[in-house]
Amino acid sequence: MRDTLRAHGLRFSRPRATILSYFGERDRHVSAEDVYLDLRRRGEDLSLSTVYLNLNVLSEAGVLREFQGTGGQKLYDGNPSPHYHVICRETGEVLDVPAPVVDGVPLNQFLKRTIEEATGWEVEEPRIQLRGRSPNAGAADPGDGSTSGS
Ligand SMILES: [Zn+2]
Repeated sequence: MRDTLRAHGLRFSRPRATILSYFGERDRHVSAEDVYLDLRRRGEDLSLSTVYLNLNVLSEAGVLREFQGTGGQKLYDGNPSPHYHVICRETGEVLDVPAPVVDGVPLNQFLKRTIEEATGWEVEEPRIQLRGRSPNAGAADPGDGSTSGS
């Protein structure tokens, strides 16, 4: 924990360590409120503003990644390595998908480079997000039912 923080130029603090270990337990894609409530339930005594502040610091340092959920809300990801999200519009589930490599670089870098070369614009890191339906979402169109039985 200490090493992770130091590697990203951050000093160790108890809230940072608590939040990091929370994200380290498993893949998570959660809002600041989720983090706050989960930690409270465990008896951790962090205020919501402390959680906000440290999530910001950790994502700016690249320890966590920030992205937008389907409702536009800010979510945090414990996996800072390049990957994309497929987000279910019904359940809000988030699936990590590895970034496809195009021309030897991850797709977003490929896009950045291609668009910069074509337009002369400076492009920030493109953020790609896919929407879909998870297998846990409710049944799709039930159809006319004539396919069941025979
Ligand atoms: Zn993710």
